[in-house]
Amino acid sequence: MKKLVILTGAGMSAESGIKTFRGSGGLWEQYRVEDVASVEGWYRNPDLVQRFYNERRRQLENAVPNIGHTGLAALEMDFDVQIITQNVDNLHERAGSSRVLHLHGLLTQARSSKNPGLVIDIGYRDILPGEKAPDESPLRPNIVWFGEAVPAMETAADIASGADIFAVIGTSLNVYPAAGLIHYVPATIPFFLIDPEPVSVYTSHKVEYIRKGAGEGVLIMTERLKY
Ligand code: NAD
Repeated sequence: MKKLVILTGAGMSAESGIKTFRGSGGLWEQYRVEDVASVEGWYRNPDLVQRFYNERRRQLENAVPNIGHTGLAALEMDFDVQIITQNVDNLHERAGSSRVLHLHGLLTQARSSKNPGLVIDIGYRDILPGEKAPDESPLRPNIVWFGEAVPAMETAADIASGADIFAVIGTSLNVYPAAGLIHYVPATIPFFLIDPEPVSVYTSHKVEYIRKGAGEGVLIMTERLKY
């Protein structure tokens, strides 16, 4: 089976009712990104950050995967599909995708603020004010914030470099280091880009641009992959 590697971003989940950054002018669900998704924001106002991710977790519990998510899961019948996502939601998994690497963490997990490896599953419940991790440090969302290293990058680069086909769906490719993954993709393989808006892709690949939302775009890509 050919190895189909797919890099997804916030646009993948837009049709599930979860807002992107770019669509809201640098705000994430009415919050300034630097206040809720940066290390500085966490030190400045941890209560605000906890409240924000508690809200995102509750929103996620009520969201459902869209036909883009389920379409990618269905591709596993014909391809060895590996998803690399910048999203912190779990909609790929809930649609049935079996290999999903989360570059920026996962809403349904929390972690120690001292030890990034001490992660616990919390499902959709809130992190409570003053709640502690097993090592007694403050429990925080298991999200990779701006200003933090992305521990899964090396694995993601290995996966990208082993692709036979590569696709980018619903990401502005503005957030690094994730956006740099396209430079690990072998030069001559098919390269799809699905996004309803123009995206600047700085690569020498011949990009097959499907200018559609994720749902319709995945259906079109699936048809093209058959030939
Ligand atoms: P971004 O907001 O910078 O870009 C979103 C992209 O999706 C844009 O190019 C936009 O044109 C496109 N888009 C909008 N509607 C779409 C649709 N229906 N179908 C397909 N594409 C659509 O998002 P990013 O590049 O992922 O970077 C933002 C960061 O924010 C990520 O690191 C991510 O962790 C975080 N984030 C995550 C979520 C989530 O988990 N669902 C939501 C918002 C932000």
